Amino acid sequence: MVFADIIIDISVKSLDKTFQYRVPEKLENEVETGSLVLVPFGNGNRQLKGYVVNLTDTPRFDISRTKSITGIEKQGVPVESHLLSLAGWIKKNYGASMNDAIKAVMPVKKEVREQAVRTVFPLMDKEKLEGFAMQFEAKHNTARARVLRCLLGLNGEMYYNGVDYNYITKELKCPKSVLDGLGQMGIIKTGAAKKYRNPALLEGNPAHRAEERHVLNEEQQYITDTVLSEYSDGIRNTYLIHGVTGSGKTEVYMNIIEGVLSYGKQVIVLIPEIALTFQTVNRFYKRFGERVSVIHSRLSAGERYDQFIRAKEGLVDIMIGPRSALFVPFKNLGLIVVDEEHETSYQSETPPKYHAREVAVQRAGMLGASVLLGSATPSLEAYYRARKGIYRLFTLKKRAGGAHLPKVHIVDLREEFKNKNYSVFSGKLTALIEERLKKHEQSVIFINRRGYAGFISCRQCGESIGCPHCSVSLKPHMHKGVVDRLKCHFCGYEIPVPDACPSCGSKYIGTFGIGTQQVEEAARKLFKGARILRMDADTTGGKEGHSKILSQFANGGADILIGTQMIVKGHDFPNVTLVGIIAADLSLNAGDYRAAERTYQLVAQAAGRAGRGNKKGEVVLQTYQPAHYSIVHAANQDYESFYKQEISVREMLQYPPVSNILGVLVFSENEESALKLASVISEIAEQYQDVTVLGPADAPVAKAKDIYRKMVYGKCMDYGTLCSVKDCIEAFKEQDTEYKDCGINFEFNIIR
Ligand code: ADP
Ligand code: ZN
Ligand code: ZN
Repeated sequence: MVFADIIIDISVKSLDKTFQYRVPEKLENEVETGSLVLVPFGNGNRQLKGYVVNLTDTPRFDISRTKSITGIEKQGVPVESHLLSLAGWIKKNYGASMNDAIKAVMPVKKEVREQAVRTVFPLMDKEKLEGFAMQFEAKHNTARARVLRCLLGLNGEMYYNGVDYNYITKELKCPKSVLDGLGQMGIIKTGAAKKYRNPALLEGNPAHRAEERHVLNEEQQYITDTVLSEYSDGIRNTYLIHGVTGSGKTEVYMNIIEGVLSYGKQVIVLIPEIALTFQTVNRFYKRFGERVSVIHSRLSAGERYDQFIRAKEGLVDIMIGPRSALFVPFKNLGLIVVDEEHETSYQSETPPKYHAREVAVQRAGMLGASVLLGSATPSLEAYYRARKGIYRLFTLKKRAGGAHLPKVHIVDLREEFKNKNYSVFSGKLTALIEERLKKHEQSVIFINRRGYAGFISCRQCGESIGCPHCSVSLKPHMHKGVVDRLKCHFCGYEIPVPDACPSCGSKYIGTFGIGTQQVEEAARKLFKGARILRMDADTTGGKEGHSKILSQFANGGADILIGTQMIVKGHDFPNVTLVGIIAADLSLNAGDYRAAERTYQLVAQAAGRAGRGNKKGEVVLQTYQPAHYSIVHAANQDYESFYKQEISVREMLQYPPVSNILGVLVFSENEESALKLASVISEIAEQYQDVTVLGPADAPVAKAKDIYRKMVYGKCMDYGTLCSVKDCIEAFKEQDTEYKDCGINFEFNIIR
């Protein structure tokens, strides 16, 4: 007998309460997690709809009193139900409780007060309003004319629903007296509009909407035509656009979006939170107007919920946002764009630890939508699939608008050390910055902080001490305030800290890391009188700290901008002609199998910041490993060659995307208990012939807030097998009584 746990009402309040029903035999093949079913409810056995969130063969209650599901609700499956099936899929593929999975796909429901926004409305149709506008212009009654022009919009689509009062009085500088005058003439009225706020509108600016459209170049046109002709033929696909930064990917997205919208479909555009700047949103806004909206973390929960409702009610056609925007309940989803598809922020950090790219492909598949991925530095996953023909690959080879790729100088830091230059600025970088200061051009100094968490390396030869089994670097472990051992976070291998470099014998080994502050101090000493801005977690406090610094720099408010990966993403600084990368290979020591991939991405993206305007750019790439393939190919922006080398490493070591890895995190206040459970888990995994088990080992963060964290890894070619391993571990944990003090989390294909 099969039993179903059912959520009767979808309002979030009752999400945690499920009711159990029997699945009648005739429905056993049809009912699945996420199904919308009809059930008798309460004393009167009212027929209500409910969602199946779990299927089990162990009843929770007395079977004789358990009611049966009446039937499956087939008519017009509401969007929530498909999101529920998506939640079911996420649960199955990433390991999480159904509640967590549902929470991931549902917007937080908040009681929101409807906001009354003071608004100026037109009281006549477009032609009449146009007539008045021309009259006022003829009489040089410019303030009145400005109000009417604003209401008329720039693209001939009038704002019948009105325009924000504050915008007109403050931004357009048309005082109340002007509005009163127009009101007395019966042309407009002022009043409160009850409406959901559109954050894109608040950030953007309705009167400045002007189409900014380029004639596509041949490569851009080819991609647009191919995708749209497949779309019109009913073919749905996942496409990957590989194009260097500035090659015009966004322009292509917008043209494809325009085509998809013409079928009455809606579009989700995912961008990494960090790239979600005013400029990005504004660019879409200028092209598509009021029907663009945006979701981001600076909005309140209520505002975010508003955006979901607006989307559901069909008031929005394009939703832009980070990972969570993926779940916007559009009725007619036609396309999901995932820009900068390689970004780590697409991977959820809390369970379910899903990857937005994978979920996008799944959701699109469920709804008959297409997916468009784009990146200058594609993830190995996406490129691997594109090469296998699972995704369709397009390439943009040139920079759009004629800008050139920068010239890259590689500086060997070991040589600097030999020549007794102990500064973080090499001779070459110093000279080129000085040149920029003379020419009044800007420089960006990028500090690669990924992997800074600590590793031991040699200042003479640049080698870091790695695990002989896993090709990742060993992490120092502190004992009573001193580093006493080095450990592999993957397999548990450990050694005492050596006195000298195992490669060259130098005594100059130690933990190595440079902070932004240190670089700023050095820069102030070296470049007297230069205007220097620093951007890192400390200087970007507050809601707008981030964009404030960037716009100050973009407006020429400084000569040198120093920062971490934050400054690399998506920003266009036309006057930046020099990018310096302080230690390009720091991220090679990140201790995970993606280290080379991340390094390639960071270096290539950073280099891509130079010379985006008319002036030619230069890049200085300082590194201890000038011959490492990730550095060499990034310097040449040669992704193809990088990919070939990297994928052969993954093949050799059976790392994703060639194979798959399931990580099981075991955590507990009691270290012994965590370690024991981890051993049990590794035994469970070892039952599977095709699964290679590694660990138990300390997690990358071995102890946090007094909770001990252990990891077990299982490697297997087949993802499905790893899902079964996960299910088996889950089932064990559910019925277990010995390890009640331990918790477990799953993660697929991530090692942090
Ligand atoms: P990406 O998204 O690949 O970084 P963008 O779409 O932002 O590239 O384009 C980079 C710059 O080139 C932008 O300023 C854009 O307006 C401009 N651009 C894009 N396509 C064209 C084109 N066909 N002709 C001229 N300029 C273009
Ligand atoms: Zn050495
Ligand atoms: Zn190891």
